[in-house]
Amino acid sequence: MSSHLFSTSTNGETHPLTYRLREDRGYVDLDEFEQKDGYEALRTTLRELSPDELIDNMKTANLRGRGGAGFSAGVKWSLTARGDDHPRGYIACNADEMEPGTFKDRLLLEETPHLLIEGMILAGYANNAYRGYIFLRSEYVLAAQRIERALAEARKAGILGSRVCDSDFDFDIFLHTGAGRYICGEETALINSLEGRRANPRSKPPFPGQSGAWGRPTVVNNVETLCNVPAIALRGGDWYQSLSGGRSDDGGTKLYGVSGRVKRPGLVEMPMGTTAGELLELAGGMRDGLELKTWLPGGGSTGFLLPEHLDLALDFDTIGGAGSRLGTGLLAVVAHNQSVVSLTRNLEDFFARESCGWCTPCRDGLPWAARILHALENGEGEEGDIELLESLASNIGPGKTFCAHAPGAAMPLETAIKHFRHEFEAGIRHRQREAHAEPIPVGS
Ligand code: NAD
Repeated sequence: MSSHLFSTSTNGETHPLTYRLREDRGYVDLDEFEQKDGYEALRTTLRELSPDELIDNMKTANLRGRGGAGFSAGVKWSLTARGDDHPRGYIACNADEMEPGTFKDRLLLEETPHLLIEGMILAGYANNAYRGYIFLRSEYVLAAQRIERALAEARKAGILGSRVCDSDFDFDIFLHTGAGRYICGEETALINSLEGRRANPRSKPPFPGQSGAWGRPTVVNNVETLCNVPAIALRGGDWYQSLSGGRSDDGGTKLYGVSGRVKRPGLVEMPMGTTAGELLELAGGMRDGLELKTWLPGGGSTGFLLPEHLDLALDFDTIGGAGSRLGTGLLAVVAHNQSVVSLTRNLEDFFARESCGWCTPCRDGLPWAARILHALENGEGEEGDIELLESLASNIGPGKTFCAHAPGAAMPLETAIKHFRHEFEAGIRHRQREAHAEPIPVGS
């Protein structure tokens, strides 16, 4: 998808993620990055802030994890095992962006990898880590080239390696390319994969911040989360929090996106708590002749919402309260002539294929649900299929499986049936479907 970038400031306040992007949307090299105050946050922090002060700033900022779960990054950092009794550990950047319909981290990785590097070094400083790994989705080939280029520039300039920016702090970063599995984005599966093991999730606790890669404390943060850290370090937690402008208790801005049947799909950095209605408007509205039927707020593992939800603030608590999840904040917009049964079938095919197979409800439950959905899509469903799907969704839900994969898959299934039951019933009674099967592209 060609992506279009909309906004870089609101009410005169610069947005921290996108303001250094080039007009021609190319790679921002070290010189250009430094001309726009790049690495200023790092130099100032190493001189003037203790790790604890940086963590306090992160907590005040109320930056919630942009990978999709929304856990406070500052709280996560405050729980990392640090100090003389603990070995120095790792910062693992989760760049395995495979959530269906999600393409926000790709922009940051391809165009401003120095922003990520700066955020990772600051995270390393706060968490007493000595090494960072960028775990990158394998299809992001251009991003891999540009990250390697930025890492080389930073090493040559003394920004990475021993004595970072002439301080007493040592830190280096390495790129690790994944092998193409969605489950590698789950943080403990990511750690196993990094260690060269099969990418099965580990049990938590212990959380990675206590014992992660090779048994050392490991902080796993998403790309967008880490890219916000330099602005927080330089301008303070209060400033960052206030960027959401009273629209949300969550701090800062968010790289939102819109895909699907809109006129101008793409990305936009906006204050946290912007509504889906505003994003739809920025995306030019629905394509001519189409009406909005439903939308997913942030990837395939979130729940379907309706046009009546367009005025809700897109933040973690508000969208959670509406029976869905914010997830990655990239809206997938569905038009009146698309079949919700087909969309759901496509998503459940994806989740079934990507199950690591470790626990039974996920390994067996997801393909079973997908088989029933195929039957309903083809008008070959049987009486009781919808109830069976509901029971399956409940048995793979939160607390029933080893990790969040199957509960994530259950959410679109449950909400699709809740809001569009009549479409599922049409698949049982051999009625001609009213809509065409036009699935959301997965993994693109
Ligand atoms: P989670 O809620 O279990 O954890 C979120 C983060 O908070 C983790 O880093 C975890 O270690 C930390 N955490 C939670 N409780 C903690 C505690 N008590 N102490 C210390 N740390 C704690 O969610 P998850 O399983 O890590 O992630 C699921 C999310 O991943 C879903 O919300 C989904 O949207 C998202 N996801 C995103 C992508 C993508 O491409 N961006 C892909 C797949 C899934």
